[in-house]
Amino acid sequence: MRDTRYTFCRICEATCGLAVTVNDNRVERIEPDRDHVVSQGFVCVKGTHFDAVQNSPDRITEPLKRTASGWQPISWDQAMAEIGAKIRALRAERGGDSIAHFVGSPAGANVLAPLFRNAFFKALGSRRFYGTPTTDTTNKFRVNEDMYGSPFRLAFPDVNHCDFLMVIGANPAVSGNTLYHLPRAKGRMRDIVKRGGRVVFINPRRVETAAAGEHYFIRPDTDVYFLAAFLNELMQGGGVDMDRIDAYFTGYQALRDSVSGWSAERQAEVTGIAADTLRELVAAHRAANGAALYMATGVNQGRHGTLCFWLLEAINAVSGNLDARGGTLMGEGLFDMAREVNEAGDLLLAHERKDGFPTVVGNHPSGMLADDILGGEVRALIVEASNPFLACSNPDGTPGGIREAAVVNTRRQRALPAQDAVPGRHHARHFRTIGFHCKAGRPGTEAQSQPNPLPRGVRTQQSAPGVGHAGKTGQGQQGQGG
Ligand code: SF4
Repeated sequence: MRDTRYTFCRICEATCGLAVTVNDNRVERIEPDRDHVVSQGFVCVKGTHFDAVQNSPDRITEPLKRTASGWQPISWDQAMAEIGAKIRALRAERGGDSIAHFVGSPAGANVLAPLFRNAFFKALGSRRFYGTPTTDTTNKFRVNEDMYGSPFRLAFPDVNHCDFLMVIGANPAVSGNTLYHLPRAKGRMRDIVKRGGRVVFINPRRVETAAAGEHYFIRPDTDVYFLAAFLNELMQGGGVDMDRIDAYFTGYQALRDSVSGWSAERQAEVTGIAADTLRELVAAHRAANGAALYMATGVNQGRHGTLCFWLLEAINAVSGNLDARGGTLMGEGLFDMAREVNEAGDLLLAHERKDGFPTVVGNHPSGMLADDILGGEVRALIVEASNPFLACSNPDGTPGGIREAAVVNTRRQRALPAQDAVPGRHHARHFRTIGFHCKAGRPGTEAQSQPNPLPRGVRTQQSAPGVGHAGKTGQGQQGQGG
């Protein structure tokens, strides 16, 4: 019997609402849930094609052990006993920190997983956490901690009231926003233009969302020079709120000195954005009744992701738009997570690594994972819902030093020379799970797991040719960014 069930996507923190058509207990189609209170019909292509994972021939449905003749199914009892014995022996021989954990987005965005994960690793005596956030978001946590006192104090644009919105390195209509929700992004940006404001996209690519406003091309990875010149022009032209600066900020003169060498002309040589264009944008920003700058993945992943976010937040702050209507706002959340995190201390900036790279929100830089394995610091790795070979920016090293890798995932993958792979719970199999944005009272379902043909354009990891590696250049970036 055909039926529609309502759930939400667990791939990333956006947790978009999904309407799943089920026929005879089998997933037929996944569509956006247009009535979902938060996502309001937004989903990305990953969410609507998740049945490809559910029905993938690579999907793991029982524990597997690597043997001389390939992967062999084993019982849960055998898997737990063998993995446990190896981890115990390694902990006794080399200490808890020799056992590392790699967390992928679906596990990181899971509400309950961190409770068990953190308790488990505390018991092991390990603080070796790696994960996908250090490839694209920890630059923001790092700046928040330095600038606002906690990694989890995050400002976001007041899109409903601003008259000038600048979006750098982001495409919200297609991929959502980083670390905040903006349903109907394109429509709400069009609303800014309709009420006489401006929405400006700075991007090396003509992104789809740019149809809502104006688009300016920039040379890839030169955003830091554009932002430095924007801030300099703003300061030189008197576009700062000195009353607020005197009352609330420190370090203004140092900030001013640090960007004073970046004129509109000098940045133009590097970024390709004309000096007059930059000046005109700064003038529009100054004249606006509420202005906000926002950046996301395209800049986060660049060589200067942390510095860019620092400059961007500085522009929002010194212009008087921080914590102001039409500028950027600070959410308080359901509880004061920033205070809780600061009191616990575990997720604050730390310098525990021999190479000097920091750990941010408890994460070692994932771009250094291969080096840490080759250097002998990591001897066992538990991978949760990820594929570090694809997700890390420094996969060039051969992880020959690894002694044990256990992968907890829904799919078989080419992640490290794993000895054991155990299936994780698949979200299409537990529609009843309670989440922040789940609609209450809707019935659950159990979807079948037989393989079906994959949609066009979706490849299994085993069959994907030329799986891309980002290359060595990401190594330093990761360390600095995260
Ligand atoms: S943005 Fe995409 S991957 Fe993230 S929750 Fe929504 S549908 Fe899933």
